[in-house]
Amino acid sequence: MAQQYKLHLRDIMLFWSSLNSSFYLSRFYYFCCMNKRIDDYIHKGRRQRLVEIIKLKGIKDVNVLNAIGKIPRHLFIEEYLEHRAYEDEALPIGASQTISQPYTVAFQTQLLEISFMDKVLEVGTGSGYQACVLSEMGARVFSIERQKELYAHLVHFLPDLGYSNIRCFYGDGYKGLPTYGPFDAIIITAGAPEIPTDLLTQLKLGGRLVCPVGDKKLQKMIRIIRRSDAEFETETFGDFLFVPLLKGIN
Ligand code: SAH
Repeated sequence: MAQQYKLHLRDIMLFWSSLNSSFYLSRFYYFCCMNKRIDDYIHKGRRQRLVEIIKLKGIKDVNVLNAIGKIPRHLFIEEYLEHRAYEDEALPIGASQTISQPYTVAFQTQLLEISFMDKVLEVGTGSGYQACVLSEMGARVFSIERQKELYAHLVHFLPDLGYSNIRCFYGDGYKGLPTYGPFDAIIITAGAPEIPTDLLTQLKLGGRLVCPVGDKKLQKMIRIIRRSDAEFETETFGDFLFVPLLKGIN
């Protein structure tokens, strides 16, 4: 009888100590999560649903869909908006700018027809999300941002997320990056009143430039393909709404 009681007491003690240790473990986990935002199965599930939505809207490029399915979009926006990260919507990112709607990101990227190791210039790094999509597709990404506040965040944020191969520049994207060109593809992620001509000269032969062109209220998506030194073929796609492409730096 006494032996049975002793065993019982030991079980209680073991149970109690395991409770305590899991309490401390959970406190430790909570402490880590407080300082570092995570990407868990709920985010992954929401992301897969977002991929399905984009697919239904007509995006066919499997590499684009895979990249969107992989990148934790909720980490590119502020925590108070995290619950909206996997809606197909543009969201604010600070400095009065936005992270583009996922469908728009997918649409522009699909038009770029990216191949592995393509050299790609992005104008308007913003949150860095579009740059990561391109990087996931195997492109060598060069990206320019004119807002110092956003650029200062990006130079730490992207390497921390594992994208140290994306090269970020602080400057006016209207001028492009002549010393790093020519590029296989150029993407402009802000609405331009007209195509920046300096960028056309930085396209390789056969290179694609994708840019929303129009006034502040509405832009048409334009793709230009360089056919020869002086010959550029222009195609027009649907209507979109972007924040404006501005001159100079801020
Ligand atoms: N590609 C971004 C979308 C950002 S919104 C993303 O994935 O989040 C457009 C961005 O273009 C803004 O950050 C804005 O500051 C930037 N921008 C506007 N005009 C610019 C210019 N001339 N050069 C570089 N960046 C510019």
